[in-house]
Amino acid sequence: MNLPRQMLAANVEWAEETITRDPQFFKELSQGQSPQVLWIGCSDSRVPAETITHCQPGDLFVHRNIANLFPPDDDNCSSVLEYAVRVLKVGHVIVCGHYGCGGVRAALLPPLPELPHVNRRIAPLCALAHTHRDELGAHPTDDARINRLAELNVLEQVQRLRNTAIVRDSQPAPLVHGWIFSLDDGRIKVVASGYADDAPSRK
Ligand SMILES: [Zn+2]
Repeated sequence: MNLPRQMLAANVEWAEETITRDPQFFKELSQGQSPQVLWIGCSDSRVPAETITHCQPGDLFVHRNIANLFPPDDDNCSSVLEYAVRVLKVGHVIVCGHYGCGGVRAALLPPLPELPHVNRRIAPLCALAHTHRDELGAHPTDDARINRLAELNVLEQVQRLRNTAIVRDSQPAPLVHGWIFSLDDGRIKVVASGYADDAPSRK
């Protein structure tokens, strides 16, 4: 069986299992959505938002792109934020990066001519790497530099999100959090909490 066909067969199984477990599930799902979280994550196939947080359909409003970037002048990102905050009234915006991110790695390497869109997209990451070149240079390995830049990138996106008029002017404003997912052990580390009294920690 080809892969798309396998996926469609799996979908039938999933729908049947779901309705067996909860006969009201699709009835409620079709009534509308009221997610409490906007998730801004990387497109990387290994970081599926719902799977790694045990969330269900309806729990997360999701935007994913290469290296979980939030360029304020990008209508794609901004429209997602605008709708999530002003219409869905989410209480939380979570930026979730991950260690070993290919987009972050690319920002530390020479640009590849065959990837002009990616190169343009990650230009702000290259600039961020340049800003923090001394700190990054102090790390002993490429992997350590990539992982630190992934953390700095999450912090940068959190700051950008908090500075948008969409977040600032909202009453109450959603809390913006910065997380990093580790492919090594599946755990999420908090690098920026939206709660003032929450020190960054692994939890
Ligand atoms: Zn990534």
